[in-house]
This record gives sequence, C-alpha cells and structure tokens, in this order.
Amino acid sequence: MAEAQADYLDQLNPPQKEGVVNVEGPCMIIAGAGSGKTRVLTYRIAHLIRAHNVDPFNIMALTFTNKAAREMQKRIEQMVGNDAKNLFMGTFHSVFARILRAEASSIGYPSNFTIYDTDDSKSLIKLIVKEFNLDDKVYKPNIVYNRISSAKNRLVSWREYQNNPIYLEDDNQNMRPEMGRIYKAYSERCFAADAMDFDDLLFNTNILFQEHPDVLNKYQQRFHYVMIDEFQDTNISQYLIAKRLAAVRQNICVVGDDAQSIYAFRGADIQNILNFERDYPDLKTIRLEQNYRSTKTIVNAANSVIGKNTAQLKKNVWTTNQDGDLIELIKATSDNEEGQLVASAIFETRMQQHVPEKDFAILYRTNSQSRAMEEALRRKNIKYRIVGGLSFYQRKEIKDLLAYFRYTVNPNDETAMRRIINLPKRGIGPGTIDKMVVAASEEGKPLWDIMEKATSYVGNRGGTQVENFTTLIKSFRLTNEKKDAYDTASQIAKTSGLLKELYEDKTIEGMNRYENTQELLNAIKEFTDNPEREDKSLGAFLQDVALLTDEDRNQKSEDVVTLMTIHMAKGLEFPYVFIVGLEEELFPSQMMLSSRADLEEERRLFYVAITRAEKKLFLSYALNRYRFGRLKNCEPSRFLEEVEPQFIKVNRKFSSKDPVSPGVNYVTKNFVSNIKKENTTKRFAAKVNHTPSADFEPSDTTNLAEGMKVEHPKFGFGLVVNIDEQGSNKKAKVEFEKAGEKTLLLSFAKLRIV
Ligand code: ATP
Ligand code: MG
Repeated sequence: MAEAQADYLDQLNPPQKEGVVNVEGPCMIIAGAGSGKTRVLTYRIAHLIRAHNVDPFNIMALTFTNKAAREMQKRIEQMVGNDAKNLFMGTFHSVFARILRAEASSIGYPSNFTIYDTDDSKSLIKLIVKEFNLDDKVYKPNIVYNRISSAKNRLVSWREYQNNPIYLEDDNQNMRPEMGRIYKAYSERCFAADAMDFDDLLFNTNILFQEHPDVLNKYQQRFHYVMIDEFQDTNISQYLIAKRLAAVRQNICVVGDDAQSIYAFRGADIQNILNFERDYPDLKTIRLEQNYRSTKTIVNAANSVIGKNTAQLKKNVWTTNQDGDLIELIKATSDNEEGQLVASAIFETRMQQHVPEKDFAILYRTNSQSRAMEEALRRKNIKYRIVGGLSFYQRKEIKDLLAYFRYTVNPNDETAMRRIINLPKRGIGPGTIDKMVVAASEEGKPLWDIMEKATSYVGNRGGTQVENFTTLIKSFRLTNEKKDAYDTASQIAKTSGLLKELYEDKTIEGMNRYENTQELLNAIKEFTDNPEREDKSLGAFLQDVALLTDEDRNQKSEDVVTLMTIHMAKGLEFPYVFIVGLEEELFPSQMMLSSRADLEEERRLFYVAITRAEKKLFLSYALNRYRFGRLKNCEPSRFLEEVEPQFIKVNRKFSSKDPVSPGVNYVTKNFVSNIKKENTTKRFAAKVNHTPSADFEPSDTTNLAEGMKVEHPKFGFGLVVNIDEQGSNKKAKVEFEKAGEKTLLLSFAKLRIV
C-alpha cells in the first residue's frame, strides 16, 4: 500500500501534497490559475479512499459544472477503481436537487417536483405582471427575475423582502413598488405548481436544513468530507449549505482563486473567502504558486494584467515552463474579417504544428459574437462546437415535448400546461384558461380538478376540448405509472400529435425540428438502457435534463474547435486560445464601465481567459462591428494596453493591411518596440511599419518587369523601376511608397505582384 500511495503523491509538489494528505479539519487553498487546485481536490479524494479507507459514499465534492465532476470522477476511478462510482459529486444545483428530491415531503413538495428553467420562470413572471395589470415595460421579466433571484441567493424570502426597508426603498426609487407583491405571487405560484426554479434548489435546501435538524443530521452523518472547487464563485446561500453540512466533523476543504471571481453579478461573493477564515479560525491555509499549465509568456502576461486590480490578494504565480511564443495580436477591419483571420490562423497553426482541432478554443465576451466566427470556420471546413448559447434543450420543439412530459409527471405544473394545452391546436384559447384559473382560486381547488369538469365552468365549446385534453393526459399518466421513460415518452410524442405535426412540415427547418425530437427520444432510450440507472422513470429523466448545463451534453470528446464565452471556460485549458472582440464597450462590456468594482470584475474575466491557454495565446479585435443591428466603429480594448508590451507581437500575416482608425495606430505604436526586438533584420524595422495583406503569398518573379507594382512583407507597396540581370543574380530596383528605393536580389526577396 505504501508503495502504491507513493506513485500518485509523487505527482505533486510539496504544498500540493500538503493539501492532499491533510484530510482532517478545515482547509483552504487560494491560489492562482493553473497551479493545480483542481488536481489537489482530485488527488485528495483518491487519497481519502486509498490511504484512509474512506467509503466514497461518505464524500461530497461540489464543482462548477457536472462535466468537471465527471472528469474528476473518471480520474479518481483510474486511481482507485470502480468504488469511485459512489462518490457524491456534481454542481451545487444537481447535488442538492437530488437531496431535495429525497426529502421533498419535509418542505411540502412531492418528490417529482418540476425544475423551472429561466424561460419558465420568466414566462410565469410575465403572466403575473399581466394579471396585476402592471406595465411590462417597467416590470420587465428579466429585471423582475434578477431581482427575485438575487433576493433568494441572499436567502431573503418574499416575506422578509416585503418587510425589508432597504428593498422597499430601492424598489420605490426605481419606480417598481410592486416588486414585493410579484415576488410573493411568483413564489406561491411555483409552490402551487410543485415547481422550483434554479435558485429555489439552494434556497429550499437551506430551509430544509434549517427547519429539519433531523434531516440535516442525517446528511451530516453521511458526508464525512466536503470539498468545493471554484470556491470564489459560491454565493452566500451555497456557502451556508456547505457550512451546515460540515458543521459536525468540520472536514471541509475549499479551493479557489479570488482573481478568477467572475460571478459577482449572480450573487457570488468573494466575501466567502473572508467568511471562511472567520468561521474556521483553526483553518489550514495552503498556497500554491507554481503554474503547470502555461508558458512563461502567458503566465507573466496574465500577472501583468491582474496586477492592475487593487482588490486582489497578492499572489506570486510563476512557472518553470518554457518561454514559449509571444502572444499574437490580430487586427481586423470588421467582425467578419476577424472571423476569417482567426480561422486562417487556426488553419495555419494546425498545419505547422500538426495539432488536432480540439487543441483550439475561441473565447468571447458574449454569445452573439459566435456568428462571425462560425461562418469563417465553416468556410474553411474547420469543425467546431459551440458551448452555451441556445442549447438543444432550449429549442422550441424540445421544450414543447418536454412540457408534455412534465405535465404528465406533475399535474400541477401550470407553466407546462399553458404551453401545451393548445399545441397542436385544439381550439382552447387563453380566455378559457384564465377563466379556469380564476375558478380554481375561487373554489380553492387544484386547477386540474377544474379542467376535468371544464364544461361546467367555461361552457361547452372550449370546455369539451379541455376535457378531451385531460383524458389524453390521463392516458399518459397511466402509461407513466407502468412503463419506463422511453415507452412513456414515445407514446406521448405520437399520441399528442406533436410528432405528426412536425413530420408534416417539409421545410428544412421543419425536418430539423422533427430530427431534434427524434434525438430527444434517442437520449431517453440511452437513459433507460443505462444499466447503472436505478430509477428509469420519466420523472428521473426530467430531473436529469433540468440540471444539464449545455456543455454536459457534449460528452463526446470530438476533434473540434471549441467556441464559448469566457464565463463558460472557467477551470478548462486548451493549448491554443483565441480571445476575440477585444474592443472597448464589448470587452470590457459597456455595462461594466460604471464602477471600479465592475471594471475589476471584467479584468478578472480577461485574466481567466488568458490563463486558459497552455502554449499560445492570440488576441484579436475588429475596427467595425455590427452591434444591435448597426455597424459601429470600435476602439481597441484598454485591456490590450494592460498586457505588458514585451509579451505581445502583431501578427502581420493575419492582420488587416491598412489600419484606418487612430485607435489602431495607438495600439500599434506600443508594439513597434517588440517588433524591433523580434526582428532579425533590425535595420528596417524602425522606419517601416507595413502589415502585409491578409492573403500575402510571394509570387514567382521570373517574369518581373519594369513598371510592375509589387508588395514586400516589410517595405510595403512599391513600383519596379529597373531590372538588372547579371547571370543568375537577377536584381530589381523598387521604389517603395514608404520605405524609399531598395535593390532586391530576386532569388531571396519575397515579393508579391499586385
Ligand atoms: P484553474 O484556476 O484554472 O481552475 P487549477 O489551479 O485548478 O486551475 P489544474 O487544472 O488543477 O489547476 O492544473 C493545471 C494543469 O497543470 C493541469 O493540466 C494539471 O494536470 C497540471 N498540473 C498541476 N499540478 C501538477 C504537477 N504537480 N505536476 C504536473 N502537472 C501538474
Ligand atoms: Mg481548477
């Protein structure tokens, strides 16, 4: 055993090892990007199992994505074998949704409660705003949703909200005095619908643990060890859950990096790091400073950027990795050209370095930037996948079918019912539904009871249709009681008429939609065929789906370029990384320019992006970009200036030849000194600053003649004034527009005839 332990402990440096072997008591590792924090957690779990014989069943690990949890689990399996399957790992949301499902009855929910996604929540809010006769331009679903979400993440219930003068005053000032009333109605409607939104999963877990000490105790006894990755991005609600769970044994280990805190806008609070120190005075703190991920150039460039923030804990991140290539700056005149230049650079790097497509990632600030990138990649036949954006499960046809499933499983899910009751068309209008909702509330009955006898409430016309609909749903429920998820789902897809309607739509989009629904049924088949699944019911499938983040679906490690927002890239690493759209008002985002704290959060985001790169980093910007339907002039991002110039060079091949905006010159100026350094033919560099055309390819010059126009990669454009043929040494005298007259030996000179 001792020998067997040594092999994995040898793969750690001394402070990492300390983090792994000190398993008892509270422990915190706050360390820079790529320093092995996630690795320490992984090895620590393996160590608990192997060296301390801890049952994996007693270990809980909370990660940022379910995918990260799966990867960690896979690695642990390699180290300790199959036992690792019993680990309790995942995101806060998925882990505590499982616990809530088991304990739902304690807080008045059935175990088959529905999980509302953001869309569901917003449509319910819209409905409430309408019912209250409020102006939906003032009470925008988005604003209301965020407000409620932020209250819940601070553990403020609607009751507390309504009595809290700070919230009230704030809402009055913002001319939204009805916010508290909407919060109340929203909470009650969710509860009546047996539904929880994402924030409720944490909010209700806190309530569960607070109000049911017996339940809390059960889980405290079960989880001897609790671990949290990406601790800097937990909010107070998550922190309290973890603290409660670990209260008895105090075996809690958190790892994170304050410099990578990028979810403050969602309530994450760096304060948790300070809380942790306060709550556990005998805490063991470990520092990791060596970066194993990136080249020196990348590590130092990242340090130079984050050094501009005032609100960071000071860290000294270093690496023994090679210097590596300089960071390359790509300049484009438009967003489309930016896409083309990035695609060319990927193509070229692949050819030169013989690396697969999966070694590349393109990171951007907002999802909408993917379009130009996608077009360019497609044109060059580079395979890619987008992580995030409109995910499979957010497509209309998928949500429609899922709503049928949800309503079959949970008869109180009003949002699902509203979505499908007239889909396909059954002649049931919103007026009919509203009448029934009113009747249900007046009689204090579940809506379902009213719907079953609809004719006596809304008359024969709509009523008969509604009653037929309830008969249909009842037949689904009967199947669901006896059959597994796949059989039930197939019956619903066929009998509801949804599949038929899509099948009859022979447009390309229609066919696509039909295929997507088939794909959903395939996914359900996979789910029921999985021998490790104990619960194969449709309810269990829905629970799984509700908590999938988009990147979780892309489990196949295909050889493709990854496109995603920087927020999604947390914790990941790629050999080659492009950070695109480095323009003022895009990155840093216009919305984050109003305060120093916001700007510092944007800078941390830039830091996260830079530190994803292992071998080489590319930064790009465009001078013009379509935003909100208009072509806009852009200025290079201030963040470009914040990377120490010594780490950057302008990529001449993949940059637009004629930077036109003053902004560009401003950036270029700073890089001239680097170009000088890196240039072996130093003589001309200071004088000439030509960026060759994007499509620069030297031409065959055997037939070069006087009067021809040429381009030289350094000297720029010029006119051939004389050809001098002496034996094999053919020379050309060229008058360059900027660099003046030069005599070039044609067997060496790189010239392009234009
Ligand atoms: P982030 O802050 O981005 O989440 P992190 O601190 O979690 O980064 P890891 O992802 O654990 O860092 O490690 C970064 C890379 O360095 C990984 O590829 C990991 O395998 C490697 N690594 C970490 N420690 C060592 C080590 N001691 N020896 C060799 N490689 C290591
Ligand atoms: Mg990590």
